[in-house]
Amino acid sequence: MNKDLQELEKIFRLFPGLGPITAKRYAKVFLNLSDHDKNNCINTMKKFVGNSARCKECGNFSLSELCGICSDKSSRNCELLCVVENFDDIEIIEKSNSFNGIYVVTDGLFDFSTKKKKKTSAIPDFELLYERIRSEKIKEVLFSFKYSVEAQVTINYIVEKIKKEFNDLQFSVLNFGIPAGIDISLMDSESIGESIRHRRNLGSE
Ligand SMILES: [Zn+2]
Repeated sequence: MNKDLQELEKIFRLFPGLGPITAKRYAKVFLNLSDHDKNNCINTMKKFVGNSARCKECGNFSLSELCGICSDKSSRNCELLCVVENFDDIEIIEKSNSFNGIYVVTDGLFDFSTKKKKKTSAIPDFELLYERIRSEKIKEVLFSFKYSVEAQVTINYIVEKIKKEFNDLQFSVLNFGIPAGIDISLMDSESIGESIRHRRNLGSE
């Protein structure tokens, strides 16, 4: 393959799951796009250079400082905080029309395997979550994590830590009617809606 074309192929190899054959195919697809479409791709990608594309308050995807939800808090119930693992979980929860509170993204759960090797990096940064609880008048924290051991340990860890500073908070978890281990973003909006409406209060156990 031509050296220039190899450079293009290398770009597609950056995406997880794309092997050399698929990357080569995508490189050729890109070459065959019109100049208008090529420019569109490049200009759209340029918007993300030097931009974290994350809301500074909740960690949601946003090209602005605040996402649409955080910049419109007057229409939201700011006493209810939903904790999600990934920002794309917010999209499916919003689509379910079952939640009108605010969010925070943890960007990961406890990773046991890493914890054994690197003690500090195994603990995801929950500072955004703590800051959100401190700055808003949160009464209930709903954990919208997938059903897994890591999620359970993470919830226990966060609850213990938060309780020390805010002892009158309520904690709840999704009431699952779905198989274990399924990512929230892969659930259908009706199921997630039911899980949120019938969420389980951790204090009532
Ligand atoms: Zn936000």
